[in-house]
Amino acid sequence: MTTEIRQCGDCSLCCKVLGIPELEKPKDSWCPNFAAGAGCRIYEDRPPSCHNFSCRWLNDTTMGPEWKPSICKMVLDSRPRMLTVHVDPAVSRPWRAEPYYSVLKRLAAQGLMRNVIVLVIEKRRSLVVLPDREVDLGVLAPGARIAMERVMTAHGPGWQPRVMGASETER
Ligand code: SF4
Ligand code: SF4
Repeated sequence: MTTEIRQCGDCSLCCKVLGIPELEKPKDSWCPNFAAGAGCRIYEDRPPSCHNFSCRWLNDTTMGPEWKPSICKMVLDSRPRMLTVHVDPAVSRPWRAEPYYSVLKRLAAQGLMRNVIVLVIEKRRSLVVLPDREVDLGVLAPGARIAMERVMTAHGPGWQPRVMGASETER
């Protein structure tokens, strides 16, 4: 049995959609160190945020080729308590299209059982994906945290995200 080892190849979307604190590079804009066709100009000296990052598609070989960030226009960042979907702001709502939407809904349902939140960030707005709906939390302040609360809805028990810590800056 061979183990598939994935490579970034022609993808570089994380150099656009992620914020890099060491470089004061904001989220959703190309890094000044990135050169089209050449990649990172400071690769050997890139900061820890870059060196330590690998996206979900790179690590999870159960995700098909359609999930490669350069194709789906989303970078999935898997952490112990959160799966963040960073959407390329140049593309309109790719996560709502199939086959992506169904998979995110399934991951959201699995996440509720494992205490993992599925969060889409697009054009600075944060949306929590739930099995039955999405909840738009607006633009969150730095340091804001999200907690899930059990609530009673018209259709029975459900979940509602709540922003904790820093307050929201916009709705
Ligand atoms: S988004 Fe993933 S596949 Fe693309 S360059 Fe970054 S780590 Fe590599
Ligand atoms: S420093 Fe290099 S690896 Fe890091 S975001 Fe910029 S171009 Fe990408």
